[in-house]
Order: sequence, then C-alpha cells, then structure tokens
Amino acid sequence: MSTATALSPEVLAKYQPVIGLEVHVQLLTETKAFCGCINQYGGEPNTHVCPTCLGLPGALPVLNRRAVEFAVLAAKSLNCEIRETSIFSRKNYFYPDSPKGYQISQFDRPLAEHGWIEIPDANGNAKRIGITRLHMEEDAGKSLHDGFADSISRTYIDLNRCGTPLIEIVSEPDIRTPDEAYEYLTRLKEILLYTGVSDCNMEEGSLRCDANVSVMLKGADKFGTKAEVKNVNSFRYIRAALEYEIERQIGVLEDGGRVVQESRLWNNAEGRTFSMRSKEQAHDYRYFPEPDLPPLVVGSDWQAEIFKQLPELPEARRARMIADYGLSEQDAATLGATRDFADRFEAAAKKAKSPKRVAAILLSEITMRLRAAGLADDQSPVSLDGIVLAADLAESGEISSKILKQLLDTSFAEGKDFPEIYERDKPQQISDASAIETMIDEVIAANPKQVEQYRGGKKTVAAFFVGQVMRLSKGQANPALLNELVVKKLDS
Ligand code: ADP
Ligand code: ZN
Ligand code: MG
Repeated sequence: MSTATALSPEVLAKYQPVIGLEVHVQLLTETKAFCGCINQYGGEPNTHVCPTCLGLPGALPVLNRRAVEFAVLAAKSLNCEIRETSIFSRKNYFYPDSPKGYQISQFDRPLAEHGWIEIPDANGNAKRIGITRLHMEEDAGKSLHDGFADSISRTYIDLNRCGTPLIEIVSEPDIRTPDEAYEYLTRLKEILLYTGVSDCNMEEGSLRCDANVSVMLKGADKFGTKAEVKNVNSFRYIRAALEYEIERQIGVLEDGGRVVQESRLWNNAEGRTFSMRSKEQAHDYRYFPEPDLPPLVVGSDWQAEIFKQLPELPEARRARMIADYGLSEQDAATLGATRDFADRFEAAAKKAKSPKRVAAILLSEITMRLRAAGLADDQSPVSLDGIVLAADLAESGEISSKILKQLLDTSFAEGKDFPEIYERDKPQQISDASAIETMIDEVIAANPKQVEQYRGGKKTVAAFFVGQVMRLSKGQANPALLNELVVKKLDS
C-alpha cells in the first residue's frame, strides 16, 4: 500500500475516517428502461438503439414495468421504505455519450429510502449501515477513447448502453473504515445477486461505485470535507483507494492545509488518487420533473405482488442451512455465497445420507478440481446425482477417500459424470471378512509395538493398522468392514 506521506500510527490514530458509498447497478431486464431496445452488454456499437434512447426529438419514453419490479425488489431486500408515488426528474448535463442532454433520474421523491445493510464490524459484531435512498435512473452511452487506428485524435461514441435501467443506492455516511466499505459492498452485491436483479459484474460495469470519504479529529462533532473517488473497478481497489485517500487527507490536515471538496480518480497502476474536478467546477444539474413521464405509482397491491418474487436472502439462508444440515458457519458462508451454489448444495444434501459429507465433497474435492481445470461452478462434469452418489459411497465407507479422489480425477479428466466412471472403474472390493482378517493378522504380527500401544490405551493407533492393511490389499479392502474388523481384532 503506497501512502501520500509517511504518517506515524500515532498521527493516523488521531483521526476518524467517514465514508459514504454511491453504487450504480444495472438491472437485468430484457429491454431498456424507457424503450424496447434490447438491454445487453456489448454488441456492435450503436446497434441497440432507437429514436427514444438516441434522444431524437419527439420520441417519448415509456417506463419498463420489469425495471420497476426489480428496483422494488432491490429496495425491499435492502430494508427500504417504498414510496407509493415517486417522480422522475431530468438531470441536465452535457456530455457526448448522453445524446438527450439530460439523464432521466429521480431527485426529491425517490422510489425508496431509509434502508440498511448489516455488516460485521472490526470486532465481528453486527453493525447497520444506513441506506439513504434507492432511486431509478437510466445509464448513459460510452465514449471509446482507444482501440481505433485514429484514437490519438478521435473519440468514438457507442450508445448501446444509453437507457439501460439503473438503480442508484446511496449509503448514509455510516461507514468508518475501508474494511467496512469492503464488507458493505460485498453484502450489497450478495443481496442483489440473490434477488436476481443484476449480475453485478464490475468488469462489464453492471455494478459501479463512487466512494465519498472525509476525515475528522476523533471526538469532533462535525464531519470533515469529503472527496469523492471515482473510477474504481473492484472492491479491493476501492478499499485500497480509500486507504490511500484517508492518509492523503490526514497528511493535508497535518500540514496545516484544508481538504478540498472534489472528485478524484483512482489510478490503479500508480496506486493513488488524482484530482479530477473541484466543487467549484461541479455541475448544476437544474433538476426538474420529467414532463414526458407520469408519476410512478407502485401501490400496495403491486408491491405485494412483487414481494412474492423475493427469495430467501443470504443471511437468513445461511442461518437456516446451519440449522437444517448442521453446517459450520464457515461452510455455510461458502456454500451460501451465491444462490446458485446454495441451491446446488441443498438439492444434493436433501437426497444424500449425510449433508455434511455433501458439503465436504463440494467444498473441497469438487471446488478444487473446478479451479484447477479453470471451470465455473456450473461447468462441473459431476452432476448433483454424481455428488450424491460420491457422498453416499464415502459416508458408508464403501470407497476410501483415496479411491474417491481417483474416481473424481478420472471424472474430471474425461469430462464424464461420476456415476458413469464409478460403474466402470470401481475398485474390486474385498468384502470377504476372512480374507481381510488374514491380512489384519499379518499386520498385527509384524507390528507388536503398535499393538502394545493400542492395548495400553492409545486407541488412535487403530488407524495405523487400517492404513497398513489397506496398503496390503492395494486399496481394495472394504473400508467399513476393515475398520470394524481391525478394532475387533485389536480388542480381542
Ligand atoms: P453531494 O451533495 O455532494 O452529492 P450527499 O450529501 O448527497 O453529497 O452525499 C453523497 C454521498 O457522500 C453519500 O453516500 C453520503 O453518505 C456521503 N457523504 C456525505 N457527507 C460525507 C462526509 N462528510 N464524509 C464522507 N462521506 C460523506
Ligand atoms: Zn432504444
Ligand atoms: Mg447527492
């Protein structure tokens, strides 16, 4: 982490950072917010456009009903109060990627307010971060500054993104550390992914965050002047940008200066922020109610309809998975990280003899092989039924963990499901008790010292004998039977 000036921990400790985040999220509707154009990332430039999203004179906006439903779902999942009648406003500014010369947004009567997200603070205690408001608006197009032969002298415009439905989620200045900002964003993204309103893909810009930060002397009763950091495209970089910015501002104050209210850009390569424009140059957006759209009315009946689409949210789901399947907090956190993963786990867990075994196999064996093969979670060659079979075989001791690993390796190598590989390659198992007993006798005879240890009370030595016999049998002894017989022999 680079720092503006080298400040001692004592100096840093005199100050309290204050952070508030503004997050823009693209909604996963099929069409755009105010026209019938397809809402899809990419595409040949300027092909997903029509008179409305191009801002041609006379073209009128018609609000996308699904966008409203997604916005209401997001608001509800973030514990917001929903306003029955909200108003669209024009936010006026001139920029080449916004052909209308204004953005349709919401201003003084937004769709939703007064929400919160719970995050763990530094001590692991739950802390609520307030959400000031959640409002609907439309995205702008894109300016393409490079990638063309004449990019040195020209900028190209792609208006495909124009009119994409967005929600903006503004937090209260309740966040106190860069780590809390990271937690807030992680929870926010998780909730939005669960509700399915956005894919929250930061690389493609479907989730974007501006971070406001100020510092004040600890115990002060007034916040310091904030700077806004823009252009940060991952949660980790947002944390790094905030760390940098906090130290920069403390450095300014310690040198007797004043923090200027301004927008700053994060430069990833240099690991620092740069001034972009100061408040004096800030826009006056001249907001006024959008004359081409009626007030948005989401009455209680419609709200109730929409709320029915609300899934079980991450926090609740993890708590239930711990209760239902006896998972550890850690395992529940990983399995519940996405709705998809949680669904997959639960589908298998319900069929298998031991949900915990399913969790273990999914989290270690399957995940490890997916990562090694560069596959996504939904690209596994092992189906849910395959996982159930693997878990049941391992649980009953019909196959050893070593054989399980081998079979899974083959399954991944050949891209074939586990049941198919198991049927073909399953080890010839020795389940004949007398054959196993003969081998146990041999091992016991060869290891008198260990026998003595066992009989002296060190029961864990049994595992040594199991291992030795398993080797002798070339991994073919029925593990459950072997375990049972080893103990019986040693105890006799
Ligand atoms: P602006 O009028 O500059 O847009 P807002 O009051 O609308 O400022 O707040 C924008 C964001 O900045 C919000 O997320 C808010 O929590 C945060 N914020 C406001 N004041 C401060 C401050 N002094 N320090 C840090 N963040 C702040
Ligand atoms: Zn259009
Ligand atoms: Mg504001």
